Amino acid sequence: MAKYVYDFTEGNRNLKDLLGGKGANLAEMTNLGLPVPHGFTITTEACRHYLAEGSVPSGLDQEVAEHLEALEAKMGRKLGQADDPLLVSVRSGAKFSMPGMMETVLNIGLNDESVHGLAKQSGGNDRFAWDSYRRLIQMFGKTVLGIDGDLFERALDDLKGRRHDTDLDSGELQQLVETYKGIVRDQTGKDFPADPREQMRLAVMAVFDSWNAPRAILYRRQERIPADLGTAVNIMAMVFGNYGNDSGTGVAFTRDPGSGQQGIYGDYLQNAQGEDVVAGIRNTIPLQDLEHLDKPSYDQLVDIMETLENHYRDLCDIEFTIERGKLWMLQTRVGKRTAAAAFCIATQLVDQGLITMDEAVTRVTGDQLAQLMFPRFDGGADKKKIAKGMNASPGAAVGKAVFSSERAVELAGQGEDVILVRRETNPDDLAGMIAARGILTSRGGKTSHAAVVARGMGKTCVCGAEDLDVQTAERRFTAPGGVVVSEGDVISIDGTSGEVYLGEVPVVDSAVVEYFEGATEPQDDLVKAVDRIMRHADDKRRLGVRANADTPEDAARARRFGAQGIGLCRTEHMFLGERRQLVEDLVLASSDEERQAALDALEPLQKSDFIGIFQAMQGAPVTIRLIDPPLHEFLPDIVDLSVKVATGAATDKDRELLTAVKRLHEQNPMLGLRGVRLGLIIPGLFAMQVRAIAQAAAEVPGARPEIMIPLVAAVQELESVREEAVKILADAGVSALIGTMIEVPRAALTAAQIAEAAEFFSFGTNDLTQMAWGFSRDDVEAAFFSRYLDLGIFGVSPFETLDREGVGRLMEIAVREGRQARPDLHLGICGEHGGDPDSVHFCHDVGLDYVSCSPFRIPVARLEAGRAALTETDSDTR
Ligand code: PEP
Ligand code: MG
Repeated sequence: MAKYVYDFTEGNRNLKDLLGGKGANLAEMTNLGLPVPHGFTITTEACRHYLAEGSVPSGLDQEVAEHLEALEAKMGRKLGQADDPLLVSVRSGAKFSMPGMMETVLNIGLNDESVHGLAKQSGGNDRFAWDSYRRLIQMFGKTVLGIDGDLFERALDDLKGRRHDTDLDSGELQQLVETYKGIVRDQTGKDFPADPREQMRLAVMAVFDSWNAPRAILYRRQERIPADLGTAVNIMAMVFGNYGNDSGTGVAFTRDPGSGQQGIYGDYLQNAQGEDVVAGIRNTIPLQDLEHLDKPSYDQLVDIMETLENHYRDLCDIEFTIERGKLWMLQTRVGKRTAAAAFCIATQLVDQGLITMDEAVTRVTGDQLAQLMFPRFDGGADKKKIAKGMNASPGAAVGKAVFSSERAVELAGQGEDVILVRRETNPDDLAGMIAARGILTSRGGKTSHAAVVARGMGKTCVCGAEDLDVQTAERRFTAPGGVVVSEGDVISIDGTSGEVYLGEVPVVDSAVVEYFEGATEPQDDLVKAVDRIMRHADDKRRLGVRANADTPEDAARARRFGAQGIGLCRTEHMFLGERRQLVEDLVLASSDEERQAALDALEPLQKSDFIGIFQAMQGAPVTIRLIDPPLHEFLPDIVDLSVKVATGAATDKDRELLTAVKRLHEQNPMLGLRGVRLGLIIPGLFAMQVRAIAQAAAEVPGARPEIMIPLVAAVQELESVREEAVKILADAGVSALIGTMIEVPRAALTAAQIAEAAEFFSFGTNDLTQMAWGFSRDDVEAAFFSRYLDLGIFGVSPFETLDREGVGRLMEIAVREGRQARPDLHLGICGEHGGDPDSVHFCHDVGLDYVSCSPFRIPVARLEAGRAALTETDSDTR
């Protein structure tokens, strides 16, 4: 029979799939002998069953009952026992951390009787008992019974007026409990459930259900967490941080998650329960100050932090509670961190001998590197600083201030850059946080909701800017000195320094980009860390990395960024601007002579284009693709021409052009006369380009041209172009590989034949995706992809991340059959996927020789290629 419940003593950290991250790590800490309250975990498998079938699996209730009994035996008291109750918490915990997205219910087991037992247990602390009870009804009411949380908040506000909630006495809290019970009755038509086991059962199901809460779905999509994992549920004996001032709760990091620096980082809140810290609703004190409040607990915590960091060999974050001077660990996990911290920590751990350089490379990601390449504020610019908060998530963000999540989504939808300004954020702000360029809050520490979520998303965030008075209802904030910022006013926030500026501050390149540009030697710690990791990734990677570049400037930048060649030089851009005239002449030519004259005029221009690129690439290979798009793209617009003709403003040439444009008009130009088809239909066009390449190569010592034919579907197309090209190259005494794009499904499926005529393949996955799915690459993303994402038809656009199952399969076939036909076939990719981290791993796995991407993505591709090689080694040796 399936086992759905694991005691904390039965699990370990490798069981995250089954026990979720929280459950697996609670078990790991229990095994390490750390002070973890007793408890057990209901598996994700039970959740998946519940979500699929609408009921819990048979046997689960029985298993939970047995584990609860065992827990009661260990604790020496029973759940909700009237005179001496055991209370439990019921917490979600998925495989991947989803901070604040799912539900938690604390203090389960309290009712009108056991509240007195709890008071007695606490040595007559009535206030504490009633506070715990009102928290249970509030949390349970909101999360399990689905009652609007504001109703409880308002009742609390009415009672306390301008006081803190800690100022309420036990009589007032008892009164609040009655009010809360009334709210439950009014809203649900039933009494608050007094039976402790029933409370627990309902809470477990509410946690299961919260997997599919809208904010959880949104978060998963944003973080690319699969939708079908489900959450585990952790049931743990309660420990109390709200007993009084000798109690409290906090979060800690074993290093600064913002910079990676070692030290004691975290926040502590006296006389409070867990959720208060993460929710950022009261301002916390720095963790260091705990040393003065409770030295023994502080010293023990510091020891445990060291134990955990050495054990996990990584930055850990921790949630803990102190109950009347006794420290309890409630959670740990390998902590989220900023991109900069990820690089610094990885190399620090190497220097401490905790991990190898190979592991260090796998500890950082291409997405993190991309974040470090974002611009930052210009240090020399005039700035009007209006406040300073905490540097919660780095970057430079400029935008119009907005004060609600809805408004952020609305304005961002209209193409505006916005900064979401809130007193503090909560999980309901997620949509606005995603839509905004940056997030600014006036309350909460580095571990508040805003900070944690923003860091996870790589979004700029300044939090706890306490000098700002945020008036959400009035849609404005005021800053010291009488500055008022209303909705729509532009502000700039610096997530690296925590500073907030009025107006737009200009941004400049990042230090990491300057390093890649070769402008600076690695100086600061971050750049040094990036340098070490990149060198190691380069050492280990098997994939080559080339650039998609069409100009000498792009080619030069690509080279500085580490490109080992050009994988795609599109030649169509070279036919624009002043040269349009010559294309028009080509299209309008009414005789062979006129056409040849137009081509002859283009040839020297093309030659000089190629000379520039060969020079920039200094002997590295340059794959030049012959002209690809339909010719009418180079001609004037049909509507403009028609208007000119209709209004009598047209010249003779305009009239001729209109006839030509009409003749060339196609219903589906992407499937029409383009690519190799043009080369076959317009005599001399490809020959002109090949001659220009050959002559340019002859003039640049060391030039290594490769000639690439686009949109080939049949080997016969390639053969006839190839034959002509081979002759031209031979005449010029230049050697060049001749190959083809694989971007039409038929080409992939007939790769064995095509390889007979091609020395290399380059996968054009933009067209290949378009044609494999039958999606117009120009239209569908805006038209309906968001609906497709909602429906889960795909988790991410196939134009962004390679669709392994469909397009990937076409690639696999082409790689295998192409190589069988020609063992030394050189294989690359030049579609946009060449710079996408996940797709780079696929290209490695499928055995390509190189990926080619835009210059700015080259460092990311280099790093991911290194990671792909190293993760492969890992699995081989396991
Ligand atoms: C492709 O189709 O993937 C490709 C690289 O070519 P283009 O984007 O120019 O059509
Ligand atoms: Mg293409």
